[in-house]
Amino acid sequence: MSTSLEGRVALVTGASRGIGRATALMLAARGADVAVNYKSNRAAAEDVQRQIEALGRRCVLLPADVADFAQATALVQQAVEQLGRLDILVNNAGLTRDNLIVRLREEDWDIVVDTILKGAFACSRAAVRYMMRERYGRIINIGSVSGLGGNAGQTNYAAAKAGLIGLTKALAKEVGSRNITVNLIAPGFIETDLTASLPETMVSEILRLTPLGRLGKPEDVAAAVCYLASEEASFITGQVLSVDGGLLMQ
Ligand code: NDP
Repeated sequence: MSTSLEGRVALVTGASRGIGRATALMLAARGADVAVNYKSNRAAAEDVQRQIEALGRRCVLLPADVADFAQATALVQQAVEQLGRLDILVNNAGLTRDNLIVRLREEDWDIVVDTILKGAFACSRAAVRYMMRERYGRIINIGSVSGLGGNAGQTNYAAAKAGLIGLTKALAKEVGSRNITVNLIAPGFIETDLTASLPETMVSEILRLTPLGRLGKPEDVAAAVCYLASEEASFITGQVLSVDGGLLMQ
């Protein structure tokens, strides 16, 4: 048994910034070659690529909007073609469009649900077709505490993240016999661009409710992804792993 990911190929969606970026870098540090997907921040994605290559690993940049079914499908195909195989898929791309439900516009609902939920469906569907033939795969979905406990102002986001839990469990049952595991990590509040504009009062309230007394770092989530991607996690599937400093205990 080894925690090394040498010889493995990973695709991380939304890997130009934040949690996806830290995950791509940590997977590479553990030995994986990485396909880095991003939507619009080319310069940031190129920086991730430079760092992965400096670690001696192969890296391809694959721009695609995962909310678009055809682009998400092509993304997975390109990762397989350009890196030769696909062992690990991290469905991480996400965004928020927060508002109280009476002010939430249809487009705010659609972009959040399409990116998070439909994107994970489309990427997983394409990846599973390949992984089933190989009889090996690790799919790791990035959920949220919001999908477990709800959060006022996030009906769209909480619904998408809760939906991702259902997808995780159903798919884990579908593909377990092919040696493919599917798990979800539910991060609490992690310091990234996504949470940079939270009001100070909200941050202190979150800190007060967090037993470990700090916000998370992208690397806290990346480490959990690396674990679920490793051989040591080969008997774990269909699970939700919270990485939230103890914010939400169930
Ligand atoms: P960031 O805003 O820092 O980064 C988001 C990433 O997703 C970027 O790389 C962005 O690419 C990419 N992205 C957004 N939309 C798309 C799309 N349609 N197609 C492809 N890529 C896309 O977010 P975080 O790192 O904070 O969040 C990452 C994941 O973790 C999300 O799923 C989020 O919901 C989840 N999460 C985050 C928490 C937090 O506290 N930060 C807490 C719980 C969950 P680009 O910039 O190139 O457009």
